[in-house]
Amino acid sequence: MPPEREVLEVDVLFVGAGPASLAGSIHLAKKIKAHNESAESTGAKKIEEPFIGIIEKGAEVGAHSLSGAVLDPKPLRDLIPDHKEKGCPIEAEVSKDELYFLTNKGKIKAPVTPPPLKNHGYYVVSLGDLTKWLAEQAEAEGVEVFPTFPGTEVLEENGKVIGIRTQDKGIDKEGNHKPNYQPGADFTAPVTVFAEGTRGSLAKQLFTKHPELMKDRNPMVYGLGVKEVWKIPPGRIKPGEVIHTMNYPLNTDTYGGGWIYGMKDDHISIGLVVGLDYKDPFLDPHAKFQEWKEHPLLHGLIDGGEMVSYGAKTMPLGGYFSVPQLSMDGAILCGDTASMLNPMRLKGIHTAMQSGIYAADAIFEAMLSGDYSRASLEKYDALVEQSWITSELKSSRNFHQGFENGLWSGLINTSLSFLNGGAGLKNRMAAKAGHERMETIQEYYGAQKAPPAAKQFDGKLTFDKLTDLFKSGTEHLEDQPAHLKILEPDICSNRCTIEYGNPCERFCPANVYIWEQDANDGKGKVRIDFANCVHCKTCDIMDPYQIINWTTPEGGGGPQYEKL
Ligand code: SF4
Repeated sequence: MPPEREVLEVDVLFVGAGPASLAGSIHLAKKIKAHNESAESTGAKKIEEPFIGIIEKGAEVGAHSLSGAVLDPKPLRDLIPDHKEKGCPIEAEVSKDELYFLTNKGKIKAPVTPPPLKNHGYYVVSLGDLTKWLAEQAEAEGVEVFPTFPGTEVLEENGKVIGIRTQDKGIDKEGNHKPNYQPGADFTAPVTVFAEGTRGSLAKQLFTKHPELMKDRNPMVYGLGVKEVWKIPPGRIKPGEVIHTMNYPLNTDTYGGGWIYGMKDDHISIGLVVGLDYKDPFLDPHAKFQEWKEHPLLHGLIDGGEMVSYGAKTMPLGGYFSVPQLSMDGAILCGDTASMLNPMRLKGIHTAMQSGIYAADAIFEAMLSGDYSRASLEKYDALVEQSWITSELKSSRNFHQGFENGLWSGLINTSLSFLNGGAGLKNRMAAKAGHERMETIQEYYGAQKAPPAAKQFDGKLTFDKLTDLFKSGTEHLEDQPAHLKILEPDICSNRCTIEYGNPCERFCPANVYIWEQDANDGKGKVRIDFANCVHCKTCDIMDPYQIINWTTPEGGGGPQYEKL
C-alpha cells in the first residue's frame, strides 16, 4: 500500500518564501495579534490563533533568491521600523550613483543620473540574506515556513482556489516509486497567496485555466539577469557605490544593461540583464555577460579578484500594463508573479513587499467576515490600485515597450515620459510576448548558417557556464524524472534545429540543454541535463515554440545561492 497523501489545513497559505510572502505573513500575524489584544477591551470578535504557512521549494529560505539588489526600504521601514537594531543584513547604504554608456572600449558618464536610477540612502542587499532574515522575523511572529515543499498543482473546487498540492518525493527517473516514495501533501486554505516570483509555475496554471486574469493586459515580458559576486582587491569601489551601464556588449536591438554594486568586505555584485525579447536566435546572455566583464570598466574592478558566487534569474519587465487581475475566489497574486517590478528603476523587492502587506490587509478583513470570495478579496486589488505601487508603475508604464524598436527610440520615449507622466510617445503601448520576437536564422541573418563557435573564456575573469554553475551550489537528485518537459520533441529535431539553431543551448545560463546525435538512429535530439538547472525559467519564457514546460523538481533541489 503506498503511503497516504497528507492533508494540512492552514488558515492562510503563502506560496514562495520571497519578500512578498514574508512581508505579508509578518504584517498579517502582527495585525491579528494587535486586533486580538484590542478586542479584549472593545469586545470585538477575536481571530482564533491562525495557522499562517509559507511553502518554499528551496532547501532553505534564500537558497533560490537572487536579485541585484538595491532595495528601496520604504515598506521594510514601515513593516519593521527597528530592522537595523534587529540585525537586518544590509550590505551598505547607497552613497553614490553613476550611469555609463559603454562603447567597445570606452565609457561616457551621464552628466546627471536620471531620477529613477537615483538610489541615495537605499540599501545594497543580498536578497538571499534578506529573505533568510525576514523568515526569522516571520517565525518569531508564529508563521510556519516549510522549505523543500515545491507547489506542483493548484487545487480548485468549482472555480475557487482551495490550496496547493506539493511535489511527490521518491520517484525514480523512469517514474517508478522508490522505497522512500511519499506523495506530496495537500495544503488547503480558504485563501492562497501566489508569490512564487517570476513566471511562477503555479501562476502559469492559473493564467491558463483562468484567462480572464490577463484579459486586456499586455502579455508579461521578462529579462534574464546573470550575476556574479566577486571578492576584489581592496579600495577599488566603496560599499554603497552603485553603477549602471547601458549599451555594450548588447546591440541597439537588444534590451538590457549592467549593474555594479559595492558590497561590504571588498565584495561586489555585478550582473547583466538581457531582455528576453531579443531577435537574434544565436544570442547567449551568459556569454554576453562574460563579454561585458572584459570591458575596461569591469576589468579594472575584478582583475586580481575571485568570483565567489554565480546565479541567474528572470524578472518581469512588462510593468503596469502586464499586471493581471490580482485576486479571484480563494486566491491573491503578489510581487513578481503579478509583474509588479518597476522596469525603469529595475526594482521589484519593494513593490513585492508592499503587495504582500496589502494582501495581508485584505485577508485580515476576509478572516473577520469569513468571506474569501473575489468580492471580498478584491479589496486587495483596490489597495494596490490606490497606492504608490500603481503610481510608480504608471510612471514607467511604457518604458520597456519603448525599447521594442531599439535603444534610440527607447531613450526618446523614456525622456518624453519624464515630461508627460509616464506616457512617452503614446498613452498605452502594446507589447508582444518575448518569444514571438525571436527571429529565425534566415530572418535575422538573411541566410541559413550554423551558430557561431562558442566564445572562449580565460578561466580567470571570464568563465564557461559549467565553471560558473559550480559557484551556484546547484544540485538535484539525479534519480528523478526531469522537471523540464519538452512537450513536442519532434519540433526540436525537425524544425527548431533548422529554423532557430536550437537556441535553448544558448539562452539557458546553466548548460542544461545539449544538442547531440542519437547513437541509434543518428538523428539530432536535445539532451536535458536537468540537474544543472538554476530555476531561472528562461527556457519556459523564451522557447520560440513554447514547448518547454518548467515544472517543479523534488523538494530542496536547485541552487544554493550565497550572497546573491
Ligand atoms: Fe533556466 Fe530553464 Fe536553464 Fe533551468 S533549464 S537554468 S530554468 S533556462
